[in-house]
Amino acid sequence: MRRCDFYANKVNRSKTIFMWALVALILAIAIVIAGNIIRRQRIKNFKLPATTHDYLLAHVAFYKALSDDKRIEFDERVRDFLARTAVTGIGIEITETDKVLVAASAIIPIFSFPDWRYNNISEVLLYKGTFDKEYHTEGDERNVLGMVGSGAMQGQMILSLPALRAGFSNPADGQNTAIHEFAHLIDKADGATDGVPEYLLKPEHIQPWIKYMHQNIIEMQKSRHSDINLYGATNDAEFFAVISEYFFERPQELQQHHPELYALLDEMFNPSKEDTAV
Ligand SMILES: [Zn+2]
Repeated sequence: MRRCDFYANKVNRSKTIFMWALVALILAIAIVIAGNIIRRQRIKNFKLPATTHDYLLAHVAFYKALSDDKRIEFDERVRDFLARTAVTGIGIEITETDKVLVAASAIIPIFSFPDWRYNNISEVLLYKGTFDKEYHTEGDERNVLGMVGSGAMQGQMILSLPALRAGFSNPADGQNTAIHEFAHLIDKADGATDGVPEYLLKPEHIQPWIKYMHQNIIEMQKSRHSDINLYGATNDAEFFAVISEYFFERPQELQQHHPELYALLDEMFNPSKEDTAV
């Protein structure tokens, strides 16, 4: 009899634990669903400053070159990016237009990919100037203009605010730090920051891309002189980021000096264009 009581109590206890576990699970699922609904609503309701269109038109050459329809699409992509990604000034005041410039830098390289979203970034930090590899803004080693965070900084990008602004103040100098860093993120999206952005490249273009990339890096390392920024000869990942800046800032010049490279990049960044041939 005592053994039966003991057994019945044990079964009741198990039932109670199971019920509480079930309630906890249902509550956890409800919290996740509610959180997702609130986040989706927040993204949907997020609004850009009213001056965004005029600002982009005045400062972003890529945007200026788009048709009216494409500009509307670009605005929406910028809005969506900023609704999902925080842009934070570290120890400095930043403006709404600085945020718009960050978003424009993110959207320009993937504008031909309507469904592309950066899943590997949640925040962009803007520093008052250059910084070092340990993210310090003081000291003699401050020569970094932008960086994709890793380790504890995973999911974050750091940009020097003056470098962000300078990237758009002269659209034809071939330099745009923010586009450079977003090119690294695009490269990283397949799991390896190796200069081979597999999501952009058709399988048959991977080997030609690697061939031209290595050919150019070797030439740049040998001659120490090139129309491509020599920083691109550092490694494959830097070559892809540097040549992406060149592609978006001075496409005609790139096409003239490096037709094969240009054709591959055009195929990568504008795969839907009919007249593209590699
Ligand atoms: Zn880089």
